[in-house]
Amino acid sequence: MSRVVDVILIGQGIAGTTLAWRMLDAGLSILILDRGENVTSSRIAAGLMTPITGKRLALTQDWKKYWTEAVEFYRSVENRTKTSFFDEKQMLRLFQSETERELFETKENQFAKDVRFTKSPELPNSLRSGELGGFEMTGGQLRVSQYLDASRKHFQSIDAYEEEVQLEFATDVQFDASEVIVPKLMVAAKHIIFCQGFQTAIPKQFEKVKFNPSKGEILTVAIKDFLEERILHKGFWVAHQNVNEYRVGATYDWNELSTNITEKSRNWITKRLEELVINPFEVLSQQAAVRPTMSDFQPVVGMHPKTNKIGMLNGLGSKGSLTAPRLASMLTQNILLGTSIPKEISLSRWFN
Ligand SMILES: Cc1cc2nc3c(=O)[nH]c(=O)nc-3n(C[C@H](O)[C@H](O)[C@H](O)COP(=O)(O)OP(=O)(O)OC[C@H]3O[C@@H](n4cnc5c(N)ncnc54)[C@H](O)[C@@H]3O)c2cc1C
Repeated sequence: MSRVVDVILIGQGIAGTTLAWRMLDAGLSILILDRGENVTSSRIAAGLMTPITGKRLALTQDWKKYWTEAVEFYRSVENRTKTSFFDEKQMLRLFQSETERELFETKENQFAKDVRFTKSPELPNSLRSGELGGFEMTGGQLRVSQYLDASRKHFQSIDAYEEEVQLEFATDVQFDASEVIVPKLMVAAKHIIFCQGFQTAIPKQFEKVKFNPSKGEILTVAIKDFLEERILHKGFWVAHQNVNEYRVGATYDWNELSTNITEKSRNWITKRLEELVINPFEVLSQQAAVRPTMSDFQPVVGMHPKTNKIGMLNGLGSKGSLTAPRLASMLTQNILLGTSIPKEISLSRWFN
């Protein structure tokens, strides 16, 4: 072999990129292989990190731990790459019904322990009438493509990245007693970790892992004179991007798993936006990708219980920006120090 590294990582989405940084920081040598696609789940994601979500106003599990690690991690990568891609954001959650407002009142003491929020915030002038009010919370937004591009540039500069590599696990990856070998790239490693996101074909070692992927579509729109920089949530979200430019989404479809954009999704999103704001808007673009979600809606982190040569960081679902830094840290510590990974997110849960 012309090259030997500690770990080969397959995929440079949020999962692979974040794991690569964590491993480099821990002193491991790595090689990342990626297909270099323009449309992936990470590349089109809005990158929102929202503490309280859904109809049930659910506080994201372990929000404070994930949020603290994510802020520290992204700031550190920004400093090292001398780029900017992460912002703390104010988020305005608008109530959809009286019931939702009452639910908030029963939960607000619980939220106060973990989340910065204010009650009865000022609403944008340009909302349609009849708003039931809401609350404002502090969350964040990762400009994902910028994060991936800045990281890729760094990985290239230390010769740790190869692009346009389509790795076919069954034919391209071999194992001997102590190593993983990829003959076509003349590389050997102690471990290979799959950070491939949603794939129709997965290595047979992971056949027991049950995916429940969902396609998501998202629009970029220009809203005339809107001037709102907070992220709005009301059963969908509107996220400020540039002057008068917003990303709006997202749909969920568990049946048609492709990157094809559809009129149905475009109509669903534009109808929601028309119902929310009075300002005219124009659709600038539409994108679609598939979120890697598992059947139990938990991520998958860890090394294979039968061989610690292969592992996985996947299943980030719709929270990849928030959870990747902490999950990548857990996996790195697991490989280096043997620290355990909580059962509910561990790869091993699929093999019992
Ligand atoms: C419409 C939409 C909106 C979203 N909004 C948000 C949001 O607001 N906040 C949030 O946190 N999350 C959001 N997400 C989800 C988030 O994007 C995912 O959690 C995250 O992108 C998953 O990242 P990943 O690295 O696991 O997968 P991916 O982004 O799919 O990356 C996998 C990478 O692996 C490469 N690859 C795969 N197979 C191979 C192979 N055999 N050889 C070489 N390379 C390979 C691919 O080319 C790709 O680059 C959204 C997703 C969608 C679709």
